Amino acid sequence: MNKSVVIVGAGLAGCLLAVYLARAGWTVDVRERRGDPRARGHAAGRSINLAISARGLKALRRAGLEETIMRNAIRMPGRMIHTRAGTQEFHKYSRDPSHAIQSVSRSALNLALLEAAASEPNVSITFHQRCTNIAASSGTATFIDDNTQQTSSVVAELIVGADGAYSVVRGILQKNEGFDYSQDWLSHGYKEMQIQPVTSGAHTPFAMDPNALHIWPRGASMMIALPNPDGSFTCTLFWPHNGRESFTEISGAANGRAHFERHYADALPLMPTFDADFDANRVGSMLTVRCDPWSQGGRVVLLGDAAHAIVPFFGQGANASFEDCESLTDALAKHGDNIAAAIGEYELDRKRNANAIADMALTNFVEMRDKTASRAFKWKKKLEHFLHGVAPRFFIPRYDLVSFSTIAYADALAKSIQQDRVLATAGMGSIMAAALVVAWFLLK
Ligand SMILES: Cc1cc2nc3c(=O)[nH]c(=O)nc-3n(C[C@H](O)[C@H](O)[C@H](O)COP(=O)(O)OP(=O)(O)OC[C@H]3O[C@@H](n4cnc5c(N)ncnc54)[C@H](O)[C@@H]3O)c2cc1C
Repeated sequence: MNKSVVIVGAGLAGCLLAVYLARAGWTVDVRERRGDPRARGHAAGRSINLAISARGLKALRRAGLEETIMRNAIRMPGRMIHTRAGTQEFHKYSRDPSHAIQSVSRSALNLALLEAAASEPNVSITFHQRCTNIAASSGTATFIDDNTQQTSSVVAELIVGADGAYSVVRGILQKNEGFDYSQDWLSHGYKEMQIQPVTSGAHTPFAMDPNALHIWPRGASMMIALPNPDGSFTCTLFWPHNGRESFTEISGAANGRAHFERHYADALPLMPTFDADFDANRVGSMLTVRCDPWSQGGRVVLLGDAAHAIVPFFGQGANASFEDCESLTDALAKHGDNIAAAIGEYELDRKRNANAIADMALTNFVEMRDKTASRAFKWKKKLEHFLHGVAPRFFIPRYDLVSFSTIAYADALAKSIQQDRVLATAGMGSIMAAALVVAWFLLK
């Protein structure tokens, strides 16, 4: 078998899919809008990291890349909550001490995936190629070279749109009759900041505990920080775009600094580049994209953020995109020459899961920015871990299901909703029993 595929986008998902399909005997033509990141090397630019968990690691293992990625990963077995008073409190993610999410460098991950794809003899990767059109009927993808402005077209049996949240391929499918599409912008934006490594005399370069995902929950807003191997932390501010205490209101480093002195006072002294970062780093937007179908003509298919952009609060966007790659590869292997049937099976498998993780990611924003600061949340987590300990097969907390298992997201969502109902009923039952005991004593 030697089938041809064009993958639009050499991001995280596009590169992993290229590795899988090349090894399954496909001739893979990857076209990427940006320049070749190998020219800049691993260390170029600011450190921006992301959390990879069980699903992502499983997919990387399948490509033989888990060890390479894990070499520079930093374990985060729990959240470190930074209170307004300046104290820190560690909450573990799971009852099982071996469970941890992993902080990895986004650029190093992309580079490792790109290098793995490029090392496959039947993969070609071309840069500065911006996809401008797709014709599903003939299997043609058209690109403009951003350097020379020359247009080129390529024909393949399968075209995969792995071109991210603002996908051009999806935009083209959107023009088809019957294509349902929704795009929900989050009212909050994000800005990346840096906590610098400690340089003088300390035994560790980390200014805070590296083995935690740090959260400053502040009600309607929050900041998080993930560790980098060089001792720095990438911080992300999640503030409203507009209104009270928003990016619009707190514009400019002087206002930002004054706000930090009031709300993130313990972090500010660890941020010597605060003013430059606050002024230079742009405010990003976040959105949830849902669409249906994910394909056209049994020949063009969407994958990763192009099919289902989600907000980042469960740290699952890349993990879910990697699962897409596994699902599409397995379906193509199963259906042989019938690519349309394979695409159908892939969509059936992934769409319900993409919707489920999109919902859970939105819910988790409220949990992270607001509930993690409360005593009730802490006790709920303790109770969940206790129940998981006594009945590990029947009670598995949502965080464990999503981050430390590969159970389908849709099943994880359904199970955790059912468990929450049991907890709520048990809580109500306990309150009523206590009330009855008190009433009995009073009326005696
Ligand atoms: C602030 C933030 C934090 C996040 N944190 C996490 C996390 O902790 N864990 C996690 O799992 N996920 C996280 N994510 C989500 C994760 O980044 C995405 O889910 C993931 O990058 C999706 O991979 P992708 O390959 O589908 O898209 P991308 O990685 O965006 O790749 C798309 C590629 O397509 C290229 N492209 C775009 N248009 C064209 C075109 N017209 N022609 C050719 N090429 C094109 C782009 O240049 C890019 O290289 C986070 C996202 C954000 C915004």
